[in-house]
Amino acid sequence: MSRSKGRQGRPYRRARAQLLAESTICWICGHDGADTADHVIPLSLGGDPLAPENLRPAHGVRGCAVCGRKCNSSRGAKMTLPAPRASRAW
Ligand SMILES: [Zn+2]
Ligand SMILES: [Zn+2]
Repeated sequence: MSRSKGRQGRPYRRARAQLLAESTICWICGHDGADTADHVIPLSLGGDPLAPENLRPAHGVRGCAVCGRKCNSSRGAKMTLPAPRASRAW
């Protein structure tokens, strides 16, 4: 396990691998089989991209085998809630 001179350039991949080595329970739907690391605090909101406390396992593009959700991509960068319905004036 000597240090490779080849630069990964993407420490996120390492952080993700380390995260998934500890747990693959998706933090969004609660099922096993997560294959990506989701950011608890989105980077757009100042979240740390590599801090372990900001990374949680989540299902990626392959989706959850149990509930079928693509948890990570379904959240994406948008934390928006469904738009409130326009008041029914009629
Ligand atoms: Zn999930
Ligand atoms: Zn699920």
